Formats: sequence, C-alpha cells, structure tokens
Amino acid sequence: MKQEWELKRDIIEIGRRIWTRGYVGANDGNITVALNENELLTTPHGVSKGFMTPEMIIKVDRNAKVIAGSSKYHPSSEVKMHLEVYKERPDIKSVIHAHPTYATSFAVAGIPLDKCVLPEAILVIGAVPTAKYGLPSTMELAESIQEHIKHSDAILLENHGAITLGTDLFDAYYKMETLEHAASIVWKAIQLGNVNVLSEDERGRLLGLREKFNLQGRVAACDVTPMPSSERPTTMAAAPSSGKNQISEEYIREITEKVLAKIKKN
Ligand SMILES: [Zn+2]
Repeated sequence: MKQEWELKRDIIEIGRRIWTRGYVGANDGNITVALNENELLTTPHGVSKGFMTPEMIIKVDRNAKVIAGSSKYHPSSEVKMHLEVYKERPDIKSVIHAHPTYATSFAVAGIPLDKCVLPEAILVIGAVPTAKYGLPSTMELAESIQEHIKHSDAILLENHGAITLGTDLFDAYYKMETLEHAASIVWKAIQLGNVNVLSEDERGRLLGLREKFNLQGRVAACDVTPMPSSERPTTMAAAPSSGKNQISEEYIREITEKVLAKIKKN
C-alpha cells in the first residue's frame, strides 16, 4: 500500500499527463484515489490538472466532507460521481474523469464505442457504455452512471466526457488512454469509409485471454454485428443523391462555380 505522499505525487503526475495529452481543457477533469476504507484523496476544483502541487490535493471522507487540505482549495462537485463508484465497487481504488476529444466526440455524436474492433481495447475496456446526460454538479451525473459501473470500467458520459475506474491510479489512467486511443482509431477508420468488426470467435478467444491472464476489473462483451452504414460515411455521401454512385459532371461544375465565386469575392 502506498503512502499518502506517494499517492499525491501520482495524482500530480497523472494530472500532468491528462492535461498534456489534451484530455481536459482549462480546469476540467478530476482524479480521486482511495487512501483506506474511509478516506480519499481528490484533485481541487478550479485548478489546471497539468500544474498541481501537493498542497492542492484534498483529503475527503466517503461523503465528500473535507478532512484535510488547504482552505484555498475545494473538491469538485463531480466528486459525487466518484463516490458512487466507490460505493458500488469495493474493488475500485481510483477514478478519473476527463473530456478526451475523440471519446467525447462519440459521446456527443451519440455513436457508442461498443464494437469489437481492437484486441487491446476489447481486453482492457470491452464495450464502452454511454451514460445518459446529467447536469454537472448535481446528483443526476452520479445517478446516470449507476447501472453502467456494475459491468464496466470505462463509461462515456453523453454530451460531456468519460470516466474510468481502476484498481489503482495508473490502472484508471491507462484505461482512459486506451479509451481515447481506440476512439481516435475508430474515428479515423470511419473517415476512411469502413470499420471491420472482429468475429464472434475472435471475441471468444480474446475473452478467454482475460481469464488466462486473470485480468482485474469488469468489461462488457463487445458487439460483433457490423457498424451501421449511417456511421460509415464516405466522400460519395456528400454528393447530391442522383441515384447513381458517381459524382456527376453537373455536380463538379456546380462546386467549381461556387469555389470560383468565393475566390472572386475575396
Ligand atoms: Zn466533466
């Protein structure tokens, strides 16, 4: 078990990573870690997570009541969401909430990240559920994740961001990295016009590896059905529907005229 000063040091390091990698903007995001059965360490509200110092870290109890910390800093209201996790999942010792751009884009677009696409992501975070939108700072957010945290360690928050759960700080952080990395690859494959989904057999073999390696945490089984065509736009989809799968000369002329008109205006 790590000492309190070591956990503070690790929170600062992870805050620096999530800010550096653009997983948060301004003072967004929050990190908690369990010190023991009753106490947690949390990042403060209103501070960039990339530039924290040990005196900014606050010790709270399981009801978010401050036990120790500088009077200049206060816990985020989003800690309620973290407390919900610790209440439901005694195996979880750290929770991270951030707004990584690719993962959050899926949460905004309403496209779930639940397909069997990348082996490492299937092993570590599985099918990522999306929690219904809840107003930040209220209990709505905590309530929105209640069902999902029973089955999953990585959850998208509709029109908001993501939350990851870990057996320690780095475990929770790496799940956030895996989530964002997978989201960026799926996003790019969608732009290329095709996402191949792994078969049911391959999913079974991967889930077998989870057992073999005795991986901690919980993952929901990913979906092996093909990506819906509405989520696979191609450049051809931008053309007017002429009924043919070709860009007509008329369409090219129309675009050219629009571009020339714009150049002339400038
Ligand atoms: Zn947030």
